[in-house]
This record gives sequence, C-alpha cells and structure tokens, in this order.
Amino acid sequence: MRSLARAVGIRCAFVLLIGLALGSCRQAMAGVLSYRGKITLHPSTAELAEALTIQFAAPAQGADHLDLYLNRDLAISSLSCRSCLGHEEGPANARTDARPIIIKFRQPLRPGEIADIHLQAHGKLTDVSPDTNSFSSPWVELSIDSGWYPYEPEARDLRFDLQVKIDPGYQLAGNGKVSGGNGTWRLVQKDATSDIDLIAAPAWTASELRVQALNIRMIAVNVPPVTVQRFAQQASSSARTYSEWFGQAAARDLTIVLSPRQGGSSYSRPGYVSLAYSPPAEPDGLLFTLAHELAHFWWSRAPSWSWENWLNEAFAEYSALMYIRKSQGEAAFRGLMLQRVQRARNQPPIWGVDRNSRAYARVIYAKGAVRLLQLEQMVGQEQFRQLLAALVRRHIDTTQDFLDELQAESSPEMRMRFERLLKDRRPWRARPARRQ
Ligand SMILES: [Zn+2]
Repeated sequence: MRSLARAVGIRCAFVLLIGLALGSCRQAMAGVLSYRGKITLHPSTAELAEALTIQFAAPAQGADHLDLYLNRDLAISSLSCRSCLGHEEGPANARTDARPIIIKFRQPLRPGEIADIHLQAHGKLTDVSPDTNSFSSPWVELSIDSGWYPYEPEARDLRFDLQVKIDPGYQLAGNGKVSGGNGTWRLVQKDATSDIDLIAAPAWTASELRVQALNIRMIAVNVPPVTVQRFAQQASSSARTYSEWFGQAAARDLTIVLSPRQGGSSYSRPGYVSLAYSPPAEPDGLLFTLAHELAHFWWSRAPSWSWENWLNEAFAEYSALMYIRKSQGEAAFRGLMLQRVQRARNQPPIWGVDRNSRAYARVIYAKGAVRLLQLEQMVGQEQFRQLLAALVRRHIDTTQDFLDELQAESSPEMRMRFERLLKDRRPWRARPARRQ
C-alpha cells in the first residue's frame, strides 16, 4: 500500500490578473506542469534514453532555480532553456538512488513565468527501486520511485505526452491513454497527476470491465485466469459499492496491473493501480489491498506529503474495511479491525504526525482506521456513511474542513470529541464487536 504520491489537489491562489482592477481566484498552477518528448527503452540491456521538454511555471514568490531529481545512472547530455544559466548536480541519495539536478535561471523567473527546459539523458538503469519497479527483459515497470525521469520531490501536478520506443515484441501500458503499437507507442495524460508510470512486457492478458461510469482494464502477467477473475470481481464489486455509498468516482478509466514483481509493494495513482502478485500465493491480502487502492478514487484529495495524508489513507483503509463488512460479514471485519487496533496501540496522535517518523504508516493507516471506527460508533453507521458522502461531494482536503463538515452533519460537541481523539495519545480499548 505504498503510496509515495497521490493525486495532488489543484492549488488555487488569489492572483491579480493583468488588465483587471480586482483580484480574482483561478486555478494557479506552479512547479513542473508537463513533460513532452521521446523515451527509448531497451529492456534486454536495461538502457534508457530520454529527450524531454519540461515545462516549469514559477511559484508565487518567483524562482531563481529549480531542483529536480534523476536516477544516478542517467547521465545528462544536454540541458537548456531560454532563461537557463546552467545546471549543477549533487551527490545521489543512498535511499532513492536519485541525485539533485539544480537548474539555475539567468535572472529570477517572475511568479507564473514559464520556462521550457530541454533535457536529454541516457544510461543503463541498473538501480531501480526493486520494491516497486523493474527494468529487465521479462518485466518493465517504471515509476517515480526509480527516478527514471527528472521529478520534483513534492507537490507534483503534472501532465505528459510521450512517444515511447521499445522492442516491437512488447506490450505497453501506463497511467495515461495508450495508443500505437509495433514498437512505437504514445502515452498521454491530460489530467493533472503526480507521476509518470509505465509498464511493458513481451506478453500479458488484458481484460476490460465496465462498472457504472468506470472503465476498468485489468492487465495480468503469468496469473492463472481463475485468480484474474477473482481480482476483476473484487474490483467491480468494491467500485460499485463505493459509488453507491459516496457517489461517482472522479476518475473514469482505471488500469489495474497484476505485476509479477516478487514480494514488492503495491501502489496507486489516479486511474492506475499496481499490485505486486507472486503466484501461487493466496491473493486474499492483495484483494484487500485492491479494495483499499480502489477507494483512493474517492479519497485522494488531501496533500500526500503532510500529516493530512491521513485523510487519504485512513479513509481509503476504512472504506475497504466497510466493504469487507458488507461483502464478507461482521466477523471478517472484526478480525481485520482487531489487527489494526493492535498496530495502533501506543502510537502517537494522528494530529501533526511526522511523515518521516517510524510510526507514520501505523498512525495514518491503522490508528486512522481505528479512529474512524470510533467515529462511526459515535454517530451511527448511517450518519457516518452520509458524512463520508458529504466529504467526497464537497471535495474536502484538510482536517479543519473535515471537522467543520463533521460539526455541520452532527454537532459542535461531536466535533470536539473527535478532534480530541485525533490529538489523543492515550491507548484506546477495542470495542469492534459492538453492533449498531
Ligand atoms: Zn493508500
């Protein structure tokens, strides 16, 4: 359930539009806006070449430089833009295998000023994050985790239009619309997303499902058809249930990849889920992960780089638990809930939890789910479900707004009680067996 990057909400700021006497609010975009260009992949030799135009917009305070990160194995052969003075490279980070590329501008860019940076890089990509990525003949899976393209570390809101060349014997897919074939593909994402993900393999099976407004494409590599069927059924049934509970998902197209990575992590992006499946393992845990990842189509608006990420992770986790309760019954729900109660024991408060602390994942997933169970018990199941639907409908992406909504749907006292729980350090006595 690793999730380095989630959908990043569009940052809206008050900007003074030239020619208007009054300030007005519009969707102000800053940072790297888009990637365009060509990628060439050679899976048999692990070589990669890229020629990209990176469009960057200076933030509200302007910019005298831009920091990007790129895998240590990819050497930059050229980097230029009309306002670029030059670039410097720093040492690679041992954890990410990426190094900083510091691009300096001749004079500071004004707020909102655009720079089109042309960059060429190539190399033998030997260090890819094996937990989530792979670059080998049987399986190519690239995401931000391997730093295969120059990325901003935080607050990504990007689009892309890439031509991808690869051995004609390969299939290709990713977190965008895919077209082409026979060695030349195009991968396009016109909606803001947080990553460029692509997969390629000599062979896979692809099946299409339609669940209400959601088109689901399932790609599986070396997975028995009966297992693919179980995943498809879970995807379809959980998506249908969430739509009934929370309203239509923001995304329309969903690609689910049953990736042959051995023992790695699963992750999701808007419209894209990669599940690490190692046959012949029993897929029960991954089926829960799929229900969790699917729930992110409703829960992904909060910033993923701060403690407010609990609004994404705890709500996706608890939605998946609610789905298990509905589809498998109270005993299955109780069993999973007790695991989370144990993981949450003696953990720090959710409020302000440090993203870099060891407790972080336990706090925002397990303790977050426990707190939501408590809230459900406090307000009642039906009112809780209505509250969740209201949060989705109103595009809530901060804890303060969530508490305001809770107060509006219940009472000021309920808001205070739950805010105290978010800030509370005391262990909680489990009562998941209680029925409504
Ligand atoms: Zn998640």
